[in-house]
Amino acid sequence: MKTAAIIVAAGRGTRAGGDLPKQWQSLHGKTIAAHAMQPFADHPNVGQIVLVLHPDDRDTPLWDDTPPATIVKGGSTRQESVLAGLRAVTEATHVLIHDAARPMVTSRIIDRVIDALETHPGAAPAVAVTDTLWHGTDTQVTGTQDRNGLFRAQTPQGFALGPLLSAHETSDITATDDVSVARAAGLDVAIVAGDEDNIKITTPSDFARAEKLMRREMGIRCGNGYDVHRFGPGDHVWLCGVKVPFDRSLQGHSDADVGMHAVTDAIYGALGMGDIGQHFPPTDPQWKGAASHIFLEHAVGLAIEQGFRISNIDCTLVCEFPKIGPHQPAMKLAMAQIMGLAADRISVKATTSERLGFTGRGEGIAALATATLVKP
Ligand code: MG
Repeated sequence: MKTAAIIVAAGRGTRAGGDLPKQWQSLHGKTIAAHAMQPFADHPNVGQIVLVLHPDDRDTPLWDDTPPATIVKGGSTRQESVLAGLRAVTEATHVLIHDAARPMVTSRIIDRVIDALETHPGAAPAVAVTDTLWHGTDTQVTGTQDRNGLFRAQTPQGFALGPLLSAHETSDITATDDVSVARAAGLDVAIVAGDEDNIKITTPSDFARAEKLMRREMGIRCGNGYDVHRFGPGDHVWLCGVKVPFDRSLQGHSDADVGMHAVTDAIYGALGMGDIGQHFPPTDPQWKGAASHIFLEHAVGLAIEQGFRISNIDCTLVCEFPKIGPHQPAMKLAMAQIMGLAADRISVKATTSERLGFTGRGEGIAALATATLVKP
């Protein structure tokens, strides 16, 4: 199956307010149309993208931030615009038709439509109606409508290209979407799961909702940390907050808890706020022999201050000895307590380096960590 996407951006809708048609208004730094196109441009199974513009929008800088596409002039109705888009598709067996006013479409929705097209000539996302439906005038309820079997249609709507093209060429109905045109021509259309967030921008309140959803999407941060400490004389090592008896100790300015240092740096990294050395300079005598939970607590505090919560931590210790396995549950628990997290959000793993390198020769311990932070 070769799939093309047609993005219909020819409407003049101004109910959303503003001077520009809604698809050319800015949302979170990009036009709504650019947001609507990007998941198709990024999708591995979507090839050609056709952008159908209103004739007045041709050769304007409005669509400069959209991904590369075949630009087509639309018609005076949505159906004419879609037909112009379909005629511009080359080398595809299937086509996905998407409204430029739906900027929250995701690769998961696109996947579901493409999957259903393997076995159906048409497929489209929808959400079952859960509200009670009324008939009424502007001021009075005049009846109720059974909501059983009712769905709210979304886009992208997907079809086998040939059958949909002939459906549009011979259509004599006025339709608000392509499923109606396809069904009028006798094509079966499967329903796949849509998404409540795949909203169509129509009113100013839709803008506000989309902004909020995008902020949520953007509020995910990932950071990594890496640390090494060498062995010296001693009878225990501190690892991820646990005192492990051993015939040597890790050397360092603080308690040399290499695992906790890597985790702390991962959090600083996710925040873009430096590393342990910057916040707790080794030249400052007050941190000599310091317990490393001070550093970790500081990093967690900064994350909370910035409005983030820590979603999960993954830490890998690299050493031949001591054996980490028996101490893993205690390490998870110790880190969870320091960070105020549930223990199942923390992972502590260990590996040897097959006796290679400084860890393999037993000269010290290395640790790697990843932290994921989310802004609710
Ligand atoms: Mg360190």
